[in-house]
Order: sequence, then C-alpha cells, then structure tokens
Amino acid sequence: MRCDLCGNEGKLYKTKIEGTELNVCSGCASHGMVLEEVKEPVIEERMTGVEIKEEVEEEAIELIVSDFSEKIRKNREELGLNQEDFAKRISEKESVIHKLENGSLEPSLDLARKLERLFGIKLVEEYKESHENTGTTETGAMTIADMIKIKKKAR
Ligand SMILES: [Zn+2]
Repeated sequence: MRCDLCGNEGKLYKTKIEGTELNVCSGCASHGMVLEEVKEPVIEERMTGVEIKEEVEEEAIELIVSDFSEKIRKNREELGLNQEDFAKRISEKESVIHKLENGSLEPSLDLARKLERLFGIKLVEEYKESHENTGTTETGAMTIADMIKIKKKAR
C-alpha cells in the first residue's frame, strides 16, 4: 500500500485533505484531518484456506458397492421387470443389464447414480483417502493438509 500523495510505502491513514478522502502516510496526513487507520487487506490468508479445503475434498473417491449385482437384480425383480424391460426403462442394452447382474460389468458412476435414483438405494460409496502412512513418515514433516485429514479422521 502506497501513500496517495507522495507514494511512500508504509502505514496509511484515511485522511480528509481539502475535501477529498485519501489514503496517505503519516507525513502527508498532517496536511489534513485523519479519519481512521487504513487496515491491510487479509485476502491472501483467506485464499490459502480455500485452496486447502478444495484439496481435501478432492481426496474423496467414489466406489461402486461390491454387492451391486445382487442389489440391481433384487430391485429389478421387485419392480416386476425382466432384464429386457428394465434395460428399456433405463435406456441401456439388455446385455449391459445381464452383465451387471452377473457381476462381470461394474456400472459407471453415471449409471450407478441413475439406478440409485430409480431404486432409492445406495450403489456408490465415498471414501476419504488417507496418506497417514505415506509421505509424512518419509519427511517427518506434516503439512497443514495432513493435519486437517487427521482431524477429520478423528471425528
Ligand atoms: Zn505521503
């Protein structure tokens, strides 16, 4: 932050000089009436906090539940649909349904979400990845992100 009048860097004061409000140094402020101190902006600190938060959120990984084939078959039967009708209902090929139900094909996240909504069940699980035993032991130093992770885990 620089003085509006002389350009010197340092502590600034919002000062009324000849009817105009200016942010000036203490030297220039003596030419007018000081209204208040000018506070240093703290934007930088806040932005760092946001970055860390985003990083932690990205650690979440989504996985299809291991018993998806059973769940899909059971819920399809409860709807009274055969594989062919069910395939039409969700705009997929019958062969896809067949593979999903015998476990040879894992649904994509998009398809799993679609089935979750249709059946009202859970097919996707979220895991928080933890690097507790990697990286931190090598360097012996903990980053802020590591500490946040450990805090989260302890909850
Ligand atoms: Zn000045």
